[in-house]
Amino acid sequence: MSTIRIVRIHNELLGTYGDQGNAEVLAFRGKFHGISTTIIDVTYEDPLPRNGNIYLLGGAEDAAQLLSLEALKREKTLEGAIADGAVLLAVCAGFQIIGNSFWADGQQVGGLSLLDVESSPGKKRCVGEVKAKSLILNLELSGFENHSGITTLNSGAKAFARVSSGNGNGDGHFDGAVAGNVFGTYMHGPILARNPQLADLLLTRATGRAFSQINDPLATKYAGIARKY
Ligand code: GLN
Repeated sequence: MSTIRIVRIHNELLGTYGDQGNAEVLAFRGKFHGISTTIIDVTYEDPLPRNGNIYLLGGAEDAAQLLSLEALKREKTLEGAIADGAVLLAVCAGFQIIGNSFWADGQQVGGLSLLDVESSPGKKRCVGEVKAKSLILNLELSGFENHSGITTLNSGAKAFARVSSGNGNGDGHFDGAVAGNVFGTYMHGPILARNPQLADLLLTRATGRAFSQINDPLATKYAGIARKY
């Protein structure tokens, strides 16, 4: 595979919480690993490219989240790319969009069903630092959450991480969900900036290559450390 195509979906709608930085982290870590990458920004009006290797969805407020869903439902491109083995990282509103259903602006809508999860309105807004143990990598993750939806997992999805502080999916026990190469989480940060080994995992999934430890001292120093405000 020559160049890894990182598709940043609807940044103008799903960029509220800084999750667009996940694309830059993938490109940066890719460079360390000798992988050529390109970031492709796709707006609400553009058709989604079918040949992406890693697709990214970020967090958003309800109205923007509904618009993004509408655009993704115009075609089955994302579903097709995932079926062919592409990697998807979806954060917060993005995580809800790729589930079976969620609530936004007081209405329940059907999602893309790429993860077997359902989201519903919670009793409170969950805002603050999250610490969670990855259930894929032997790693303590950190992120920042800001959501009112809560998410329950059905049998087709496994949790992404076990929460040690914060709310995660809403119950304070688990965060996110995973199925194959599809990853959903409530953790902003951006999550890949705070947890660069996760970026390496996504690059491994996209390339089929394992990477040795790299010397990225700042990333290593701050990896997994929750911020204090
Ligand atoms: N609108 C969704 C919620 O509040 C997602 C918010 C977000 O992406 N941070 O649950």
